Amino acid sequence: MSMSMSMSIPYDVIRIIRSFLPWSHRCRMISRRWLREVLQTRIKLNKWSAKTRMYSYIVTFGQNFSNRSWSNMAKNLRIKRQARNSHFRLTWRAAVSKYMCSRCQGCGRKSRANVFGICICRRCQRNHRLKYSYMVTTEHAKRMGISKTILDTIPYHRRDHCHLRFQHLLDGHYEN
Ligand SMILES: [Zn+2]
Repeated sequence: MSMSMSMSIPYDVIRIIRSFLPWSHRCRMISRRWLREVLQTRIKLNKWSAKTRMYSYIVTFGQNFSNRSWSNMAKNLRIKRQARNSHFRLTWRAAVSKYMCSRCQGCGRKSRANVFGICICRRCQRNHRLKYSYMVTTEHAKRMGISKTILDTIPYHRRDHCHLRFQHLLDGHYEN
C-alpha cells in the first residue's frame, strides 16, 4: 500500500486491511503510526527473519516503541548472561548485540563472514531466495545484461578471485 493511499483512507479501514496481512508484511515501515500500532500487539518471534527485524526496530525506535525489552529479546534468543557495553556495564542490550553480530543475517547460523560490515555466511550469499543476502559474480552480472559502466558504480565484495555484488543492487540496471 502506498503512502498516498494510506493518507486518504480512514485509519479504521487501514486497521482492518492490516489485520489480514501476515506479520512480516504488517511489520513493514509504512508509517511510524502504522508500525507502532502493529508492535503494540503480541508478536511471536519464531523465525530468524522476525528476530532480526525486531532487533532493528528496538535499535532504531527503542524498547517502548517496539513493545519489547532487551531482556525479553535476550530470553527469546536463549542468551543466559548479560554482556559488557562500552561503559563496562553489564547489560542485556550488549548481550543481544554481541549475539546478533556473530550470526549470519540471512540464516542465523554462527559465522565470521563479513560483507561490507554485515555478517552474511557463504551459504546465504549463494541463496537466491534471500533477497538481501544473495550475491552474484561479475561474470554472472554481465550475462544478465549489466554493462561494465554500471558494474563499476556498484560496490563489490572480494572473495578468493571473485568480485561479488548484491543481486538486489543490480535490479533495474538490465540493458535488454
Ligand atoms: Zn547464512
